[in-house]
Amino acid sequence: MTKGNVDKQVNIKKNDEPILTIDDLGTNGEGIGHLCGYTIFVTGALPGEEVKVRIMKMKKNYGYGRLLEVLKASPHRVEPLCPVARPCGGCTLQHLSYEGQLAYKEKKVKDCLTRIGGVDLSKVEWLPILGMEKEPWSYRNKAQFPVRRDKDGTPVAGFFAGRTHSIIPVTACHIQHPVINQVVEVVLDFMKACSVAPYDEESHSGLVRHIYVRRGYHTKQLMVCLVINGTSLPHSDKLVEKLCEIEGMTSISLNVNKKRTNVILGEEMISLFGPLYIEDCIGDIRYRISPQSFYQVNPLQTVRLYETALAFADLKGQEKVWDLYCGIGTISLFLAKKAGHVFGVEIVPEAVENAKENAKLNGTKNASFVCGAAEDVDAEDGVDVIVVDPPRKGCDKALLDTMVKMQPERIVYVSCDPATLARDVKVLAEEGYKVEKVRACDMFPQGGHVETVCLLTRL
Ligand code: SAH
Repeated sequence: MTKGNVDKQVNIKKNDEPILTIDDLGTNGEGIGHLCGYTIFVTGALPGEEVKVRIMKMKKNYGYGRLLEVLKASPHRVEPLCPVARPCGGCTLQHLSYEGQLAYKEKKVKDCLTRIGGVDLSKVEWLPILGMEKEPWSYRNKAQFPVRRDKDGTPVAGFFAGRTHSIIPVTACHIQHPVINQVVEVVLDFMKACSVAPYDEESHSGLVRHIYVRRGYHTKQLMVCLVINGTSLPHSDKLVEKLCEIEGMTSISLNVNKKRTNVILGEEMISLFGPLYIEDCIGDIRYRISPQSFYQVNPLQTVRLYETALAFADLKGQEKVWDLYCGIGTISLFLAKKAGHVFGVEIVPEAVENAKENAKLNGTKNASFVCGAAEDVDAEDGVDVIVVDPPRKGCDKALLDTMVKMQPERIVYVSCDPATLARDVKVLAEEGYKVEKVRACDMFPQGGHVETVCLLTRL
């Protein structure tokens, strides 16, 4: 029977153990194979591999198989560095060589733009994906670990396994900066020594919910924020004392979150030590970053991403530029170096505060920021360039309409999800904007996500 055949003559059931060939990778890096007209998703399998799986679940047209054995391995298969790579699920591509990861990510962007976006790639200037030049490990500057009790009652921090709420303790996560692991150890030791209870979701009791850590790559400043189900932390002076032994400790705080929710941060912040922010540099610009503010997680790649956005914006010095979804003004201040004036729009108040302070910190006079939803901006005449950098769900339809009304010469779309990028590009193409240049950038080595910068010009 041929691949993709919908004539399902053979019934595949749960617990069957078929052998199949993997021919693609899905959006989360899972292997995809076809069997008797069904699509089977197999986490941990790679294209070109022949694998034995156990069917875990079957739906009408597709199913999920658990990888039992790799019968013929891909030449790109490598041994994962992390012993819990598979159950943790954070690094969906650790078993694929870094070259293989980059090829997969580039293909994913191309596939989305052609299939969903209807883009003719032969008419696009395609720049090769920016992969990490140094080791694609230890790059993350931020971690948010849930804290719970293990079976023996000991506090543990780590990651939720797959989509569950049970924790896989992580003592040494290889994609984040090692000092972050050190912070986690200090906090757990403190909790044990002072009998501070971890949070329990079911009974909504216990205190410490999350350990949130951020590190400035260039400044080496460290921020630690404990998210607690309460308003104070017993013996907090002891924790502060221990944490301050770690080099670079700059900001220690509590965040109050007493709600039954999956959202990590609550609204109230309490400072235990230092200011409620750290600072870091990207290129020659210095930024102040609060816990609530978004900040790219891969500092070495961020500068390359922003330089690509700046190059695509092709500014000559007089342009009026809008930076939508601007966060703490990271891209805005990059653009301001070469623009007439940059207007940033961002929905998180703390991030807008950071953005305003950041403009001052760098003596930037030609950038201003407003707090609000990007989709609520009023169309304005005479906008030359619009930069958008939305979350994964992409741009709101109302925003795309407004952008078109503003009639900028160029739109630089920075995207963290090629599928929504492609969907939005299609809408913009119908309104007279053509995809001119594309460059993908790997911000998340070992994981399945990919960042893309796309230049659209008005016809
Ligand atoms: N360009 C920035 C931030 C990108 S992340 C950087 O590279 O650092 C996306 C940002 O959009 C986040 O800061 C988020 O708070 C903000 N955001 C999310 N929804 C929004 C909306 N509807 N309107 C404006 N900003 C929004």
